[in-house]
Amino acid sequence: MAEIITSCPVCRKGIFTEFLRVKDHFLSREEFIIQECTGCGFRFVNPRPGPQEIGRYYQSEEYISHGAKKQDLISRVYRLARIFSIRTKFGIVKKYSHSGKMLDIGCGTGEFLGYCRKQGYEVSGVEPNERARSFAESANKIPVAEQLMAYSAKPGSYACITMWHVLEHVHELNMTMESIRELLAPDGVFIAAVPNCHSWDASKYGTCWAAYDVPRHLYHFTSKTLNDLAARNGFEVVKILPQKMDAYYVSMLSEKYQNGKVNYMKALFYGFWSNISAKREARGNSSLIFVLKRKKA
Ligand SMILES: [Zn+2]
Repeated sequence: MAEIITSCPVCRKGIFTEFLRVKDHFLSREEFIIQECTGCGFRFVNPRPGPQEIGRYYQSEEYISHGAKKQDLISRVYRLARIFSIRTKFGIVKKYSHSGKMLDIGCGTGEFLGYCRKQGYEVSGVEPNERARSFAESANKIPVAEQLMAYSAKPGSYACITMWHVLEHVHELNMTMESIRELLAPDGVFIAAVPNCHSWDASKYGTCWAAYDVPRHLYHFTSKTLNDLAARNGFEVVKILPQKMDAYYVSMLSEKYQNGKVNYMKALFYGFWSNISAKREARGNSSLIFVLKRKKA
């Protein structure tokens, strides 16, 4: 059953305008409407496939593995970027959190958590995809739950909770934020990376911007709306960091969606230009990493 949002997940108001109609370029070719809340500017897919229905939009080998064995340039760049990004992500975790218990929501096959464990963190994960989850458990020996709710018995104990490009996928947005806040230790940090639909590359590619990725991406954040969502759920934003590599990856995919093939020189230039415009035009980068802490009572 399709779900219809009648109350804004961020500000609770109920009047929305149509922002953009976007096709699922990746899989189904179906068209979805992204609406914008007139109260706070939050953008989300509405109507959207419900939790029971969304599974079929993930039924692609490529989505799960992001092309683990493919040899085309996008897949190779992606794999290289992943090694680089694991180290970069850990650098952020280490800088903003104490060592201790760590939870990665949407941990996939567990490579990032495996790396964090080597650095002294006590790691666990959440992953709804069964194949990814069993790989994380068997190959990387990481305890992984299917759902976040399984962790409700351990409140106030996590030094760090991360969601790398996962928050935009969850149906129960506020419930997820609330669970995370309860799980965090009083001085714990929540690190969330999301695409930024206010970025230069989002404007440049419009309906072909790969990070809209409808209907899998249910929400389309900006730094303003993520800030508002954080405040509603008792968090404060400590720091916003750029994910500069994403501008290149997203530009390559967007080129493919727009023109049927990738002009790599063009994609590299647009990625570079997006990162330049992030600061110069105060748009923020293609993807942003938010470091959040529980608001002091
Ligand atoms: Zn709103």
